[in-house]
Amino acid sequence: MSDIPFLPFAKPTISEEAIAEVVDCLRSGWITTGPKVARFEQMLSDYHGGRTALCVSSATAGLQLALMALGLEEGDEVITSPMTFVATLNTIVLAGGKPVLVDVVPETLNMDMNRLEDAITPRTKAIMPVHFAGLPVDLDPLYALAEKHGLRVVEDCAHAIGAAYRNQRIGTFGDIQVMSFHPNKNMTTGEGGVVITADPAIAKAVEQLRFHGIDRSVFNRFSKSGSQQYDVALPGYKANMMDMQAALGLHQLPALDGFIDRRTELAENYLKELQGIEGLELPAAAPATDRHAWHLFTVRIGENAAGLDRDAFMQAMKELHIGTGLHYQSTHVFRWYREHLGWQPADFPNALDIGNRICSLPLFPTLEQADQHRVINAVRTLLR
Ligand SMILES: *Cc1c(COP(=O)(O)O)cnc(C)c1O
Repeated sequence: MSDIPFLPFAKPTISEEAIAEVVDCLRSGWITTGPKVARFEQMLSDYHGGRTALCVSSATAGLQLALMALGLEEGDEVITSPMTFVATLNTIVLAGGKPVLVDVVPETLNMDMNRLEDAITPRTKAIMPVHFAGLPVDLDPLYALAEKHGLRVVEDCAHAIGAAYRNQRIGTFGDIQVMSFHPNKNMTTGEGGVVITADPAIAKAVEQLRFHGIDRSVFNRFSKSGSQQYDVALPGYKANMMDMQAALGLHQLPALDGFIDRRTELAENYLKELQGIEGLELPAAAPATDRHAWHLFTVRIGENAAGLDRDAFMQAMKELHIGTGLHYQSTHVFRWYREHLGWQPADFPNALDIGNRICSLPLFPTLEQADQHRVINAVRTLLR
């Protein structure tokens, strides 16, 4: 066994061109935000129907700045899903809001649109849907409710760049979307993220917030001395992207659709080869009009039928030199949230149950057929 190399559950695909672009950046003498970020933002804008693209240091920073741009006040509520990475909830709190959760549909792991309206109160300011694993949220009813109640929408698209809902690319609906370029995500800049928006006021606010609150346009109108001058509109953050990061992104975005095609092939193969195993629940495919980005391939272990629980399954896979991931334990069980928002484990029973049984199998564009077969055989053996 020890001679079998360890198979990670995720792995970035970095081309030689991308590496050369990073080296070019280092040799150029310009490392931080500059011409490569400008080119990458233009590329991201083109990919999202000409909307404004503002690169930031992470999706976490992007979500926080986007929410701050909405001007949340103490007690303002933001509705989101419990089945997400905790950054989604943290950024609501950090931006001065209060997270309100709507439980997920077990089949899709996305927020239940039938329960969304019940969660809306006079204090609701925004909805923050999460496209879990890259499977698009049902956006038509979501945006209909947002319009009916006058709410803003910030889509957490950390898993969903390149996905599509009703034949339209995610990132071209509504107000604001935030994508992640963390190494485990579908495309990477090392760390990094982008805020996509169709709203010029949001764009301006995020642009200021991401870099010290500096506003060059205001001051320049009254100044003869040019670009060294600036004014400060508000105390901002330091969340800009470096050219060294954008150098990677310039070669990742053109490859993204190919990455997703390969992920889709591998996911369809898992769906085919793993069906009918007792104690194993498989993820839902997307409707024919949608494109799943297949960021994750998550299975759920039914302990009674499987003969082992999720944690034992992950441990056994590790012993077979196969990496798995835990995406995610439901966020409502974390201590700070229990203590400050009074959430009980039973408040969101679907997310609680799923979080106790879910696990991600290896899925990345360069996963080879032989390695995928090793995973499939391991699952079949462990759950026989
Ligand atoms: C990864 C992730 C984030 C945060 O992305 P970073 O770029 O790592 O900050 C936010 N939301 C979800 C759902 C994620 O998976």
